[in-house]
Amino acid sequence: MTTSANLGFPRIGANRELKRALEGYWAGKIDSDELESVGRRLRREHWELQRDAGIDQIPSNDFSYYDQVLDTCAMVGAVPSRYGFDGTTVDLDLYFTMARGRQDAGAGKDVTAMEMTKWFDTNYHYIVPEFTAQQAFTLSSTKAVDAFTEASQLGIVTRPVLLGPVSFLLLGKMRDDAGAMTDLLDLLDRLLPVYEEVLGQLAEAGAVWVQIDEPCLVLDLDAAAQEGLKQAWARLRAAASRGGLKLMLTSYFGDLGPNLDVAVGLGADGLHIDLVRGADQLDDVLAKLPGRMVLSMGVVDGRNVWVNDMARSLELLDRAKAAVGGDRIVIAPSCSLLHVPIDLSREKALDAQIAQWLCFARQKLDEISVLRRAVRDGRDAAAAPLAQNAKRLQDRRESDKVHRADVRKRVESLGPDDDRRQSPYSQRKLVQRQKLGLPPFPTTTIGSFPQTSEVRSMRASRRKGAITADQYDRFLEAEIERTIRFQEEIGLDVLVHGEAERNDMVQYFGEQLDGFVFTEHGWVQSYGSRYVRPPIIFGDVRRPKPMTVRWSRYAASKTDKPIKGMLTGPITMLQWSFVRDDQPRRDTARQIALAIRDEVCDLEEAGVSVVQIDEPAIREGLPLRRADWAAYLAWSVQCFRLTASGVSDETQIHTHMCYSEFNDMIEAIGNMDADVISIESSRSQMELLDAFESYRYPNEIGPGVYDIHSPRVPSTDEMQELLHLAMKRLSPEQIWVNPDCGLKTRHWDEVRPALANMVKAARAVRAELAEV
Ligand code: GLN
Ligand code: ZN
Repeated sequence: MTTSANLGFPRIGANRELKRALEGYWAGKIDSDELESVGRRLRREHWELQRDAGIDQIPSNDFSYYDQVLDTCAMVGAVPSRYGFDGTTVDLDLYFTMARGRQDAGAGKDVTAMEMTKWFDTNYHYIVPEFTAQQAFTLSSTKAVDAFTEASQLGIVTRPVLLGPVSFLLLGKMRDDAGAMTDLLDLLDRLLPVYEEVLGQLAEAGAVWVQIDEPCLVLDLDAAAQEGLKQAWARLRAAASRGGLKLMLTSYFGDLGPNLDVAVGLGADGLHIDLVRGADQLDDVLAKLPGRMVLSMGVVDGRNVWVNDMARSLELLDRAKAAVGGDRIVIAPSCSLLHVPIDLSREKALDAQIAQWLCFARQKLDEISVLRRAVRDGRDAAAAPLAQNAKRLQDRRESDKVHRADVRKRVESLGPDDDRRQSPYSQRKLVQRQKLGLPPFPTTTIGSFPQTSEVRSMRASRRKGAITADQYDRFLEAEIERTIRFQEEIGLDVLVHGEAERNDMVQYFGEQLDGFVFTEHGWVQSYGSRYVRPPIIFGDVRRPKPMTVRWSRYAASKTDKPIKGMLTGPITMLQWSFVRDDQPRRDTARQIALAIRDEVCDLEEAGVSVVQIDEPAIREGLPLRRADWAAYLAWSVQCFRLTASGVSDETQIHTHMCYSEFNDMIEAIGNMDADVISIESSRSQMELLDAFESYRYPNEIGPGVYDIHSPRVPSTDEMQELLHLAMKRLSPEQIWVNPDCGLKTRHWDEVRPALANMVKAARAVRAELAEV
């Protein structure tokens, strides 16, 4: 009989219960018993709701107090030496110290957190495992088996989830010097006994199936990694069969591609494939699926919020059923539901028609059950929900909320010159110099100034209607004027208005564009207890009216210095939203690009001579496989250029990216053709400028000299030193002087002296330049 499965359920709670409990625990307001009772209650609720939705294979050990990769570190005892682990069990406090670091002057403790990075191409951050050449592993947490037992006691036999050993190692980093010479996979032999032990415990506790995630299967894997998978799985399989366990090998976030033969050859009892991102792989997988292997079909999108196209899912499911028989297929989401909000039914304020097209985690479980019924008992048995589904899809396809003829026409009529500035940079540079009259090493900031509690509380008051629009506007104007005065006083060259009016760099624009909607409760875990509520792009994007012009114009009216207008770029808007799935992402990006382009032109018209288009997310949009990079970079760079190219040569376009690892995409960044780019680099001591060793960046660049991620106030000397380092790679006339990101998370007390020192550092290098 065809069955259904889930790969993971969001852990945060529909009312963000986990956040409250965690932060309460960290603040010492509740004890570990209370925290654990919240955890238990959430797990129970989630198991029961999955059972009630008719899911046959319900996951356990998908719950986590912080992160599933950190859980795996705890399970295998991969605790870096700075935490002084005694080698027994990783308790809650050690676990949270690894996650968050710990500064406790009284106890004489000051230990940094483990590093965090994005989980594949999602916006979820995992804790990066740290290994050394001497790394040893021992079973140090019984969380997996405890969770299984906990569910069993509720009468629910779950399918425990483990992050597979090869993916776990590949997601980590070697830390010590000797480690730099060691291959991550050299640790596999030492790691596997712990996995064998865990499988043994799960078998003993009564588990039937275990889900082992090897998402590395959708990446480019070299021969050594493929070999590692084979070795690892031979041992996992043996351990499983000793305990009578069955293993479900799960891949997600893409197709198996060149790793297909490896995946089907690992001898798992079941294989899960992502048929949302990798629908085209189905026939190849079916052709190669070994005799008794079960196929888990990820047909419901675990990464996005749209109602499933059930006709299409059933077509895939039927094809598989015809090929291997209904008994051998499992219906599942494409990946864990961790990446989508929990419950659509809580969204009372959403446009009722648009809500009909959406589907959050709970609703996705219902979809899976409908699909199971249709496959198992025939279409007639699910006639009503299938008809309703078809109606929703048709409504979405035909809605004029989604499709706007003017937007389509505009995109179609774009010509080859629309993504090109009027003249090349070498000429623009001259007219911009003339117009702006800036000194060498011009100084500026990245846009935002401290979002004080006053700014936030005024915004909240406005939202609640406690103050009038007029009162709020007056407040913002006063804030802008104060920020301008400060920048003039310390002698910055290109001023900003300070972004006090913005809640979030994507939301602020999304709320003013057609084609976006926002949820009230659609929280998704970003990392630890930090959750975000991504906007949903449901339709053609258009800018009904100017969005930022009045604030920039106001700022410009208060000073004779040049004002820099601040906008969020199209790729970042796309990357940090749930994007419609009825057209390619690049088409949506192009529409956003045109909307922002209109804003750039209006700013120019309003007398703003410098405009910055932030693209902090362009790098994280890179596809998982290298073969797909060039196409992505081509359209994303084109979108940026579309945004930036409506203005005259005189208008100076800046962009900002807050990272420094772009050695592998530096040419694409050059192709964006921004007049000035500002980047992060103060932490890495200008290491990133290594990228410029072989590639001569043609335009101007501001390598951040003030690390805004720390409360420290950098001295003039150290910033001057960083500028000297920058001069080793760049010519003096290319260099701008700026912090490495926006200042919104900092306090005025830090920002005032830090920026004053920064201006002094710029003046000092100017003076050196004048001497030679
Ligand atoms: N202009 C934005 C700011 O200053 C940029 C934020 C970012 O790079 N993430 O806050
Ligand atoms: Zn930044």
